[in-house]
Amino acid sequence: MKEIQVITGCMFAGKTTELLNRLRATNDNYLLVKPVIDNRDSEDIVCTHDGLEEKAIRVRKVSDVFALLSNIQVVGIDEAQFFTMSIIDDLCYLQEKNIKIIIAGLEKDYLHKPFKSMTKIISMSDSVIRLKATCNNCGQDASYSHRKNTTSKQQLLIGAENFYEALCEECFNNII
Ligand SMILES: [Zn+2]
Repeated sequence: MKEIQVITGCMFAGKTTELLNRLRATNDNYLLVKPVIDNRDSEDIVCTHDGLEEKAIRVRKVSDVFALLSNIQVVGIDEAQFFTMSIIDDLCYLQEKNIKIIIAGLEKDYLHKPFKSMTKIISMSDSVIRLKATCNNCGQDASYSHRKNTTSKQQLLIGAENFYEALCEECFNNII
């Protein structure tokens, strides 16, 4: 079976940049998938905070691209935490089809609670990298996504610089 690579960490850690770099480094044909819930970017384009761009297919479920895989050896998935648990079966299907998966997603929400689907994906994966951001308060390595506007209790509030910042553990615990 082909491998599953996971790129995770907090917000502003460069997860999407790492995903795009890995896809571009492959000599295989790849397809980039992202959830339709994410409306930060213009249609069909994944943008990173540092300006990289790549064409993506926006779907409600990863299985929505199963019909497009005839010539594809690698599937990249961005913002994986926004997919429902159905993503687990979809990843198994891709593995059975001998397709390599590179998947980027937030490991924990703004309360530092794990996203269920990401916990499961990480447990299935062959390699995991946890990228760090820079603390917005003190400049140390950061692994917490802090929501600056906490009036909403939704776990899935879509991120923009206006709503979130990366913090180190110390600053996160001082602010919360
Ligand atoms: Zn800090």
